[in-house]
Amino acid sequence: MKLTNRSKVVSNKKMTLSESLYIPAILKGMQITMRHAVKTLAKGSSTVQYPEQERPRAKIWRGMHVLKRDEEGRERCTACGLCAVACPAEAITMVAAERTKDEKNLYREEKYAEIYEINMLRCIFCGMCEDACPKSAIYLTDRLVNAESNRGSFIFGKDHLVEKIDDRIDVSDRQTELQRKLMK
Ligand code: SF4
Ligand code: SF4
Repeated sequence: MKLTNRSKVVSNKKMTLSESLYIPAILKGMQITMRHAVKTLAKGSSTVQYPEQERPRAKIWRGMHVLKRDEEGRERCTACGLCAVACPAEAITMVAAERTKDEKNLYREEKYAEIYEINMLRCIFCGMCEDACPKSAIYLTDRLVNAESNRGSFIFGKDHLVEKIDDRIDVSDRQTELQRKLMK
């Protein structure tokens, strides 16, 4: 069945001498390269001097994760593991623990993540963990993952991921209306 008119019939005709030398094709390629080089020169350099300079990012840009706290400062994550199951890169691992009576002010649910880690070298920033979370606990943010010189430093634990009590991260641009209501 033909879905579009874009398909081309492949021709098996013999190449001419100039075609077999590839000279016209090379010249055509160089012409395109030169045209772009001249355009770029006329426009001025578009190189961004990262990390001193950063490109503006969209509000819903998918960068480093945050594990959210609720309005009382308790960790929202209940270590259900749905984010880990949804993760196509198998980048998330966690160890669950039971909340004690004295920890009610620390963790929102009876179960919490004692250890929660994301391997940032595996992560493809797809956002599936965010979509899978039933507790609005994990979100991707517009923060960048910094460059590191050894692989072990890319395993981000709760010290990197849980938001600071006095430095909350606004994720409202990433939430649906329903999520915003549930967060309250
Ligand atoms: S953003 Fe995607 S790849 Fe990264 S941890 Fe979440 S689900 Fe896994
Ligand atoms: S972040 Fe969400 S989905 Fe992942 S374990 Fe915690 S509550 Fe479950």
